[in-house]
Amino acid sequence: MGPLLKLYIALVVANAVLLLGHDLSVVAQWPYAWSAGVTIALIVLSAIGDHLHFEVRRGWYTNASAVAHIAAAFLLPPGLAMAIAALGVGLRALRHPLAPPKLAFNVASITLAVGAAAHLATRFGGPDRVSPGGSWTDPLIAIVVSCSYCVVSAGLVAVVVALDKRRPVWEVTRGNLSVQTMGEVGLGTVGAMLAAMLNSAPNWAPMLLVPAGLLYLAKQAMDRADRRSRNMAVTSAVGRAVVGTLDPERAFQAIAEGAVLEGLKLDGLALVPMGSPPAFSEHVACEVDRPALRAAILEQLVLEPRQIDLHIGPGRVVPTWVPEDVRCARLAVAAIPFGAGYGRPVGGLIAWREVNAGRAAFFDLDQMLVLKTLADYAAVTLETARLAQETARLHREAGQAEARREMEALREVARLKDEFLGQVSHELRTPLTIIHGYSELMVDGMLTEPGTIRQSADEIHTSSALMLRLVDDLLDTSRLDAGRIELKTDRLDLATWLTRVASGFGQATPTHHVVAQLAAPLPSVMADADRLGQVMNNLLSNAARYSARGTEIRISAAVVDESVEIQVIDQGTGIAAEDCERIFEKFYRGRHGATLAVRGTGLGLAVARQLVEAHAGSIGVRSTLGRGSAFWVRLPMAPAAKAGASRARVA
Ligand code: ADP
Repeated sequence: MGPLLKLYIALVVANAVLLLGHDLSVVAQWPYAWSAGVTIALIVLSAIGDHLHFEVRRGWYTNASAVAHIAAAFLLPPGLAMAIAALGVGLRALRHPLAPPKLAFNVASITLAVGAAAHLATRFGGPDRVSPGGSWTDPLIAIVVSCSYCVVSAGLVAVVVALDKRRPVWEVTRGNLSVQTMGEVGLGTVGAMLAAMLNSAPNWAPMLLVPAGLLYLAKQAMDRADRRSRNMAVTSAVGRAVVGTLDPERAFQAIAEGAVLEGLKLDGLALVPMGSPPAFSEHVACEVDRPALRAAILEQLVLEPRQIDLHIGPGRVVPTWVPEDVRCARLAVAAIPFGAGYGRPVGGLIAWREVNAGRAAFFDLDQMLVLKTLADYAAVTLETARLAQETARLHREAGQAEARREMEALREVARLKDEFLGQVSHELRTPLTIIHGYSELMVDGMLTEPGTIRQSADEIHTSSALMLRLVDDLLDTSRLDAGRIELKTDRLDLATWLTRVASGFGQATPTHHVVAQLAAPLPSVMADADRLGQVMNNLLSNAARYSARGTEIRISAAVVDESVEIQVIDQGTGIAAEDCERIFEKFYRGRHGATLAVRGTGLGLAVARQLVEAHAGSIGVRSTLGRGSAFWVRLPMAPAAKAGASRARVA
């Protein structure tokens, strides 16, 4: 507070004391009659009116005591009217303590304002002017008197604000006090009307207290509702901020700052961690920080995790652990441990408020509820962060496992390719060696007998056919992979076609008994005969390669579930259960010992599967190790054939 401001306040207070002293001493000389009942009623009204304050504009309040003050100015001697106003402000200070200079100025300015109004009213004729027989000018007088009251009070306050904030007086007046003045002129006029009423019927004065009391209660209820909605706004704003982040530090910052300070009228709020390692760092939002008090409270929360609700102030009994330097302050303090649901509390929420004008000396139930909700938010924030971390860890682990699996799959592919290359080279080398050997014999003229020449030519032919098949398979797989094979589909009469395939293969493979077992009638399918022939050839040559000489190879066909199923059944080595799916993969050869004795590339079945799937069909195998295998191919029936086939089955 600057020296000029101090001097100004001193001048106003001195003026008020002098005027009040003088006017009280001449109360008896007041020329008009006044009643004690009206005086008492106005004292009470003034005190109640002081509690009925309204926010005219943000931060600028006016109160209903102006009604009682103007009524007193008309009906009572100026000294008494001034004393009533001074008493009202003084009584209000009992509930909402003020710093002494501020209180003195408030009392003095209102005393002077009422003094001005009362002297003016006396000049105009006092109670006579507001009697029922008054002239037409009376309402005008009421407004003039109210104006004098407002101009003096607003003017005195404007200078204080201007000196305090170091702004020009006219700017302060124009900005906010003008609105307040208008409010007070209105209230003052109501006061003049009240004076008129009381002047004509002074015995009704006590009855005034009923509506005033009701108004007071209504205002209290409105204030409570207002506080609650403000508290809800605080919790919802903080809730939004907390939900919007997974980072506890940011969420705690939002809880500590956010709307908390404004909404709860706090001077400080701290979220302090306990335990080690701490789950978060300390977050403090404050205008006045009190680290010693915070530390002492946290110590108490660690010792005993329970809610603390403390009023510190002169004359109050406070626990011994409250630090010395805080004991003389006027403070309301609340502390709530949080996170206790997970064993012991992980932190404490501490709120404090300097108690002065307009700030209650305690946290009411609603505010405690808000603080508890904030503490719950803090606990939820920590739990959410913990869950998020846990989820991230699981994701990381799952990702690592996935990467490992992919790595293993890649290794397996690389291994299979190496194996394949070795196999292919081997497969190519064997027939090539044979071709090379025989052709060399021929070139050198070593073969003269027509019989041996013919035999050698046969060997060369067989070996080159083998090489051709291998190269064809390789080309087919790469073409199928690239989607470069086009099917020339046509309606294929399965019965005729399969009979031809069976007899052709039977003649070419005298080592085995090839048998065809075809259900009649067999529907036709839409297929590329060459490609389907390639599939059959693969299956049949496998059947021959993986079974002993002299055993039977059976080709069967029947309608199964709206499709035609062709089977190639042998009595050979069979396939291990774990290999049955994998043998259709490219380059995969069965792991069974019997397979290893037979040369191959692991490509035949892969090509077969790709070709069957290109026909919208499917392929698979049923096999028992050591007993034989049954490879099946299912193809969709040709559209027109469907009806015929189902008719045939029904018949
Ligand atoms: P390849 O016969 O050249 O190895 P395939 O793709 O034709 O390649 O066959 C893959 C694997 O399936 C073979 O290595 C073999 O282990 C197994 N297999 C295929 N057909 C039969 C069958 N009829 N009997 C037993 N095993 C078979």
